[in-house]
Amino acid sequence: MKSIHLQIFIQYKQFYKEFLNNDLDDLENLETNVINNKDPPYRLFFVTNARNWYNCFYCGNKSCDNCPVPYNDDLLETYVNKVKTQGNRDSKIDFELYLRKDPNFGKLEEWFEKSIDEK
Ligand SMILES: [Zn+2]
Repeated sequence: MKSIHLQIFIQYKQFYKEFLNNDLDDLENLETNVINNKDPPYRLFFVTNARNWYNCFYCGNKSCDNCPVPYNDDLLETYVNKVKTQGNRDSKIDFELYLRKDPNFGKLEEWFEKSIDEK
């Protein structure tokens, strides 16, 4: 799942320029500023199917409240197969990105408003 994390990081890194070290490449910045950071700018989760009723596709826990996407060498296909074998035809993988709320969060809102105005 490292490549998923890296793709997300590359998409969103423009919002977190102040965290980034110019001497490091994207992967090193991801590991330093997000994966190994106790207070990262964002967190990436699988949206659970559990709802206190079913076993979560990813962690098996009925009381799961969305699982952190692991930072490992597993391929996305591994998780697609978990969902396929445990779910039904309509089951799909959803990701959720939680953004840390801090003074810099305002920049993100400005950016979205600007993007909408430009369309
Ligand atoms: Zn779970």
